[in-house]
Amino acid sequence: MQVFSTPEPLKSYISNNRKHGKTIGLVPTMGALHQGHLELIGSSRQSNDITVCSIYVNPAQFNNQRDLIEYPRDLKQDLKKLKALDCQAVFCPTDDVMYPGEPVLSMDFGHLEKIMEGSHRPGHFKGVALVVSKLFHMVQPDTAYFGEKDWQQLVIIKRLVEDLNFPLEIVSMPVIREADGLAMSSRNARLTPQQRGVANELHRTLLLVKQQIENRTAIEMALKLGKQYLDRVPLITMEYLEVVRAYSLDHPVEELGREPLSICIAALLGDVRLIDNVQVFNE
Ligand code: AMP
Repeated sequence: MQVFSTPEPLKSYISNNRKHGKTIGLVPTMGALHQGHLELIGSSRQSNDITVCSIYVNPAQFNNQRDLIEYPRDLKQDLKKLKALDCQAVFCPTDDVMYPGEPVLSMDFGHLEKIMEGSHRPGHFKGVALVVSKLFHMVQPDTAYFGEKDWQQLVIIKRLVEDLNFPLEIVSMPVIREADGLAMSSRNARLTPQQRGVANELHRTLLLVKQQIENRTAIEMALKLGKQYLDRVPLITMEYLEVVRAYSLDHPVEELGREPLSICIAALLGDVRLIDNVQVFNE
């Protein structure tokens, strides 16, 4: 496995492989890898000759300094896990490499970033789009892999690729969960045992709302029931619970309709912020 920390040797490695007709898959991550990440690597490994995993905790997408400082990092373990999966290349740059100067470019995703993560984490998607664009240029993948765990991010990245004609395909993978339903996240490692004991209530809340919608309860009422349910759970403070049209992120949604829905949640357990989502299809 090749480990790169600067773009130049990575670029020569990529162009060398391209010359030999190899296909390139990119899996962007912030490290502290778990099974959710590893499924993305596995999927890329299956469909590409070369898989590049990037590991970079991108300061530009953190609006909360404490969250950035406390974000779990474990490069040694990450490299072990990637090696075990036969990932061919890892790109783990430093801040100086990614941001040699203060960037002036600021991308705006309009209505897509006015809700949910966008409104609760100002500037978050500008930071995500910037680093993902940089990675796309540095790695020039044929395919890039993203998790549905970050649903709004996935929609925005697909839009970024479309609007800027990045010559690549985006492949998404379903949310990988712990046995009790908690969506895997690097941040889960920061939960106390007590917080971990209730953390799966986010998913249970989503399932409750989903079931209500499938039973044709009005969406506003379904959301109200979900909020009431989570309110009774100790140690969790909900930030938002929203129902949006899955691909357009249009909201508020009044009825199920043809476009699937995405029920999205964000909540704080102490200072650990978790997000999750489930989809609802009109059967
Ligand atoms: P992160 O390291 O949290 O930035 O995540 C890197 C990639 O892994 C993103 O595309 C995430 O959506 C994806 N991911 C993170 N957690 C999960 C999960 N539990 N299931 C599926 N994909 C995930």
